[in-house]
Amino acid sequence: MSVAHILGFPRIGARREWKFALEDFWRSAQTPEDEAALHQVARTLRARHWALQRDAGLDYVTVGDFAGYDHVLDTLAHVGAVPARFGFDAQTLTLAQYFQMARGHATQPAMEMTKWFDTNYHYIVPEYTPDTQFGAGVTGLFDALTEAQAAGHRAKPVLLGPLTLLWLGKERDGLQDRLTLLPRLLPVYCQLLAKLRAAGVDWVQLDEPIFALDLPHAWRAVAHSTYEQLALVAPQLLLTTYFGAVTEHMALLKALPVAGLHLDLARAPEQLEAFIEDWPEDKILSAGMVDGRNVWRHDLDASLTHLQKAHSRLGDRLWVASSCSLLHVPVDLQSELENTRSAPAALDPELRSWLAFATQKLDEIVALRCALVAGRHKVSKVFDAAAQACSTRRTSTRIHHAFVARRLAELTEGDAQRNAPYEQRAWLQRERFKLPLLPTTTIGSFPQTPEIRQARADFKQGRIGHLAYLEAMRAHIRDALARQNEYGLDVLVHGEAERNDMVEYFGELLAGFAITTHGWVQSYGSRCVKPPLIYGDVYAPEPMTVGWTTYAQQQTDKPVKGMLTGPVTMLQWAFVRDDQPRATTALQIALALRDEVCALEEAGIGMIQIDEPALREGLPLKVDDHATYLAWAIQAFKVASSGVANHTQIHTHMCYSEFGDILPAIAALDADVLSIETTRSNMELLTSFAAFAYPNEIGPGVYDIHSPRVPTSEEMARLIQLALEHIPAERLWVNPDCGLKTRDWTQVDEALTRMVKAAQQVRGAL
Ligand code: GLN
Ligand code: ZN
Repeated sequence: MSVAHILGFPRIGARREWKFALEDFWRSAQTPEDEAALHQVARTLRARHWALQRDAGLDYVTVGDFAGYDHVLDTLAHVGAVPARFGFDAQTLTLAQYFQMARGHATQPAMEMTKWFDTNYHYIVPEYTPDTQFGAGVTGLFDALTEAQAAGHRAKPVLLGPLTLLWLGKERDGLQDRLTLLPRLLPVYCQLLAKLRAAGVDWVQLDEPIFALDLPHAWRAVAHSTYEQLALVAPQLLLTTYFGAVTEHMALLKALPVAGLHLDLARAPEQLEAFIEDWPEDKILSAGMVDGRNVWRHDLDASLTHLQKAHSRLGDRLWVASSCSLLHVPVDLQSELENTRSAPAALDPELRSWLAFATQKLDEIVALRCALVAGRHKVSKVFDAAAQACSTRRTSTRIHHAFVARRLAELTEGDAQRNAPYEQRAWLQRERFKLPLLPTTTIGSFPQTPEIRQARADFKQGRIGHLAYLEAMRAHIRDALARQNEYGLDVLVHGEAERNDMVEYFGELLAGFAITTHGWVQSYGSRCVKPPLIYGDVYAPEPMTVGWTTYAQQQTDKPVKGMLTGPVTMLQWAFVRDDQPRATTALQIALALRDEVCALEEAGIGMIQIDEPALREGLPLKVDDHATYLAWAIQAFKVASSGVANHTQIHTHMCYSEFGDILPAIAALDADVLSIETTRSNMELLTSFAAFAYPNEIGPGVYDIHSPRVPTSEEMARLIQLALEHIPAERLWVNPDCGLKTRDWTQVDEALTRMVKAAQQVRGAL
């Protein structure tokens, strides 16, 4: 019988129960009772999520996807790979120690975190050294398995595959090549898999998403022998690939000694055709149809048609699944129906009818399998409802606006080009602003105090009226400006008190965006994000920031920098339309921002910053796709920023420290001023900017805002001096690494006073 399954379910809970339980535990004394209480929450959530899978009609429940903090860290715990620097015994690792690896403790910094492929989920980066040993670790996997079996479920455990586990790690302490650890690692996987087999498991899902990358030859070369070893002792293995096409590895994958292969057909639908040609008789093929990365209701009829040929060839050997783990989507759309005291239901019924969250996706997978096996008529109600929703979405007047399409069609190359080259603009801007050398500024946000949050919440929930809210925010703006004047900064900002989040704020004001009430997705550990939904053509019905910015500008003679979130970042941190290319959506947002930029200019604002912290993370997984992405990403930024006169200064900000080969793209943005994160890397980053001869102005961060520690002005002066070795004084700015919203005022007062002092000191010595 053809199987319906998922690759994983969100752990966080429909009401973020896991987040709150984790945070309670971290605040607690972490006694055995506290541990027991946390385990109890985990068991409850697992039981609930398995019941949902079974009740929906899935043939297996997925076990092992519920990680306490992160699934890569869990896998490291399973194979006993605890970094030696922590001094923990892998065989007796406690829960408290597990969290210390993720979060650091008094004497050891946390393990690094980085983005999980091209998602906004962050995993814990394994640390591999020449001495890394693997062995039996403490593994909750078997507890979870016992729970599932005791509840009568057919359990399909999931493990991150050994190749991906090694690939994702970092080499340290002189280890040359982490792949050389494979022979040490495999016996431990063999033990784990043999134990699962002994526990009565018939299928194990091994995730190897790295097959969707440009995988070096050495890694491909070991795949066959790796899986040969594992297959000897393991239950039937389902090797899963996701986040992209794996067609280039097709011959290798078809020949692997595994019982099944999973393909992501949401991202790369065209691969199916290629893979079903001579698909080996002894293997199943798992078709990842239902999108685990987005929230749109599935077009069941389209998928049924798409799968028909594969089904007639493979019959029951064709499985139906989610494209990847459902980790990346919110838990349950049903939550959006509920009015809570703090938030009224935000999504209207029509919009809701177009969506499916994790729980709804289970039904879609089961319906699709049923239609394949028994015919559409068996599930015609579900199919008809889906068809209806897809059709209203295709034709809805809420989605398509002719004037947006027209503006896009009428865009010219000139619209994405400033009127004059940087040198001329820089001259005009110097004349206009008369800033000193090494001008000082900040990245935009100031501390989000409890009072600020309270005022926003009071307004949202109707406890205070519009005018009272306006006055409260204006008071915060005045306060922020007074402090900035006190520090002696040259370019001021209004402080972003009105913004809960740099994307959601604009999402609430832009047409085509919607905000969910409970659409939380895990970002890392207990941290969740609530991505806005872009469902329709985007435009700005009215100015979004002009009021706040001009109010601030009226309070001071110094320039106040307007503050916007860029088109690529908005796209990257939202659930986006799947009915048009990302590039089109990016350009629509860009046009809305262009209006805002021009409106700010019109209102007398001379400097406007367009933040693009997510530009680099939008890079596609495969190098071949980079150029296309960068071309439209650059175009979008330039459309947003090029409507202004030459004497208007465009800033942009990116907070990361690895630019590598995207430097030409960064330069192509042609922002007058670029601020970046450099403190922690000791300005090393500037070597590449200098080598590339980056032509415009740069503000390399001199204050690490991620740490509560306030650097001395000497430290900051030294960083400025270092920067001067790479960038001439005429093009150098002085600013922190990023926005200050997570810091408190005591730290900010001290840090910025010292930063200005440092700049003055270096300036004086020039
Ligand atoms: N202007 C934003 C801030 O200061 C930028 C945030 C970011 O780069 N992530 O908060
Ligand atoms: Zn930043």
